[in-house]
Amino acid sequence: MTTDDFRPEKKITTFYPPQRILMGPGPSDTHPRVLAALARPTLGHLDPVFTDMMEELKGLLRYAFQTANLLTFPVSGPGSVGMEMCFVNMIVPGDKVVVCRNGVFGGRMIENVERCGGIPVVVEDKWGEPVDPQKLEDALKSNPDTKIVAFVHAETSTGVQSDAKTLCEIAKKYGCLTIMDTVTSLGGTPIYMDEWGVDAIYSGSQKCLSCPPGLSPVSFSERVANLVKGRTEKVHSWFMDINLLLGYWGSSRTYHHTAPTNSLYGLHESLVMLYEEGLEHSWARHRRNHEALKAGLKTLGIEYVVAEPYRLPQLNSVHVPAGIDEKEVRRRLLADYNLEIGAGLGDFAGKIWRFGLMGNSSKIEKVIFCLDALEHVLA
Ligand code: PLP
Repeated sequence: MTTDDFRPEKKITTFYPPQRILMGPGPSDTHPRVLAALARPTLGHLDPVFTDMMEELKGLLRYAFQTANLLTFPVSGPGSVGMEMCFVNMIVPGDKVVVCRNGVFGGRMIENVERCGGIPVVVEDKWGEPVDPQKLEDALKSNPDTKIVAFVHAETSTGVQSDAKTLCEIAKKYGCLTIMDTVTSLGGTPIYMDEWGVDAIYSGSQKCLSCPPGLSPVSFSERVANLVKGRTEKVHSWFMDINLLLGYWGSSRTYHHTAPTNSLYGLHESLVMLYEEGLEHSWARHRRNHEALKAGLKTLGIEYVVAEPYRLPQLNSVHVPAGIDEKEVRRRLLADYNLEIGAGLGDFAGKIWRFGLMGNSSKIEKVIFCLDALEHVLA
């Protein structure tokens, strides 16, 4: 095709997205301070000013994960890359991995284990319920050769939070390493990586951290660092090999890939904001706004999917009321109110809505706006 052939019907010009309010399962609304940070001058990824910022960023991430792990940094790529990074570095073919599945993302973990040549042992729980610690213990009793236990802390597909502390205790009792998905939990609900003894953790920039998608903070314990250093077989991914990536994120600062500098300014800014607010205050804000949404939904006669003790404050999944065209409601919210809410995934498709109150979308004025819009559309 030549330039002359390329004659679109409509004049192509700069893209200006509408100003939406994002109250679905992610991304959440990017904070204006993060947007401003993204627009600052691009630096070379080996510029000393930039690498000084990288050091701060690692420290801020340690605070967010509550860990002293030196191996804590953001991976260039979405949460799925952080997920793959854990599995591909920690598994060698033939390793047995217990995966707890109670929603979509546990299912993806199984897929990762299989693709790395591992043997998955699946601990299955119903969608909308947390991982049952007893089932995990039973699986480890009958599979004493298990090397890793993997689970999702905050299942975005259902709005359930599992008891990470107890799951890690059980894994440790059976001498296993742990992989924990915190894509939806980081910044929105307590995570104590070191206290709970989590070995590998990954998250995403686009949820409770109020950044655009595309970065995945990760952290690895010394046990994982030693495991990966001691591998005799190469990690089956060049890009995600921790040993190679550390050439850049470690002290030698050698070129690995061209880091997305501006996106990293954005993540740095969001973590500065988290530090200024304080983790406990951020967790409390997410809970307060959840309580407000819950009270409003109750007056509309809308019921939660998840039992109260296991609900995620930042991801509220509710049953679509009988006789309502759920797709049409979401369409009208978007068209008439510029408001995005989430649909159900997998088994829950067409049956539930998901209201995200994450990061910069977890604000009382947005909760009120959302309830008001929903009431009008349902009337
Ligand atoms: N894990 C969980 C719990 C998620 O909610 C998501 C995304 O929503 C992912 C993993 C994958 O993250 P990403 O879409 O950024 O690749």
